[in-house]
Amino acid sequence: MVQNKKVITNGRVIDPAQGLDRVADVLVADGKIAEITDAPLTEVPDGYEAIDASGLVVTPGFIDLHTHLRDPGYEWKETIGSGTEAAARGGFTTVSAMPNTDPCQDNAAVVDDVTRRAARDAVVRVLLIGAITKGRKGKTLSPMGELADAGVIGFSDDGDPVSDSNMMRQALSYSSSLGLPIINHAEVHSLVRGGVMNEGPVATRLGLPPVPASAESVMIARDIELAMLTGGRLHVPHVSTAASVDLIRAAKQRGRNVTAEVTPHHLTLTDSWVYGLRGEVPDVVTAVAYDTNTKVNPPLRSAEDVAALRAAVADGTIDIVATDHAPHAATDEVCTYDEAAHGINALETAFGQVMQLVHEGVLSLNDLIALLTSRPAAILGRKSGTLAAGSEADIVLLDPDAEWMVSPNDFASLSRNTPLAGATLRGRVVQTIYGGLSVWDSRSVAAVTS
Ligand SMILES: [Zn+2]
Repeated sequence: MVQNKKVITNGRVIDPAQGLDRVADVLVADGKIAEITDAPLTEVPDGYEAIDASGLVVTPGFIDLHTHLRDPGYEWKETIGSGTEAAARGGFTTVSAMPNTDPCQDNAAVVDDVTRRAARDAVVRVLLIGAITKGRKGKTLSPMGELADAGVIGFSDDGDPVSDSNMMRQALSYSSSLGLPIINHAEVHSLVRGGVMNEGPVATRLGLPPVPASAESVMIARDIELAMLTGGRLHVPHVSTAASVDLIRAAKQRGRNVTAEVTPHHLTLTDSWVYGLRGEVPDVVTAVAYDTNTKVNPPLRSAEDVAALRAAVADGTIDIVATDHAPHAATDEVCTYDEAAHGINALETAFGQVMQLVHEGVLSLNDLIALLTSRPAAILGRKSGTLAAGSEADIVLLDPDAEWMVSPNDFASLSRNTPLAGATLRGRVVQTIYGGLSVWDSRSVAAVTS
């Protein structure tokens, strides 16, 4: 089993779960972390494959709690195979598939089917999120106990909110007995009213229907109140506004059982990106002055909101980064802004994007790695997201300073919908190891093509 014995030499090993940050060697055997040596090895032990990590950072594989794999039902956008390959390229060794599939993951039969196919087709670990309500229609609770028995890690109707407050109350009550989070897409439909981008000067100038920030925060306020009432576990997905951050911070100060996530795009892009000029503001607005790839739900927000989100990850109010990877076909984007689908293709660009916060001094590299590894593992309540001896050998090798240009045609994802096409990111995933096996190695790709 030579291929499953590896020693990763001379890397800067960062494992926030163990408070570890030092140059060391990581030994992997039979799919598990065997040891992190105190002193770097002088020679490679017999039977081990050596991976040189000099100048690189070695961390646990990233864990994404919010992923749309589109399978079953929308396999032209993404499949379990292509989506997990995109994950591997992005440094993610665990993804969590949202249930807005067709059929919907609202019963054990569908969950069992996806689990079985993931065991066959996925190159990284796929966890499943079950629907809160049947068909995600908000009318009847899904069989949450049955879904929990089938192995789901939480419940969400993502893409749609649970608008009925009593339905949300019941879901949170069940969640506390099941020990799993309710992940409610926070959006008050009656405030959105056909809006397609953030309410503010950019929407006014482009003449696009606006979505007010309160469409999100009003529902988060309700959900926090209901979590207090029931003792249920609330996880707030893709937080996007300063007001939402204030609510979550206040809830945590009162010791409430609330966690929250933010996406790479909400941390780094403002609504000025809607102009399609990578954040530049045009002097003259033309008839085609927008990029449909910036359409996302919740929408890209103001610079003040982005600043509040950054402060919230820095002070721990927001617990994790999650991608909300939402692949869409070209036909969903080559259209008017109104007609375009919501969502950004995020797995392969996530690390380079969030590294911006480290380069700009908002976060330390250690803190950023925690947002992607130990913190999501804590929300899952699993012994993962660490390089502790005996853990699954899910490892990523990173070059925090490598610059690369985003070329969507090179994505492993079946879709190309990113506003970052042609942008340069600083921070690259060099190699991803899942269960002791290499599932992505940018160096071997470079060797083949050069
Ligand atoms: Zn959502």
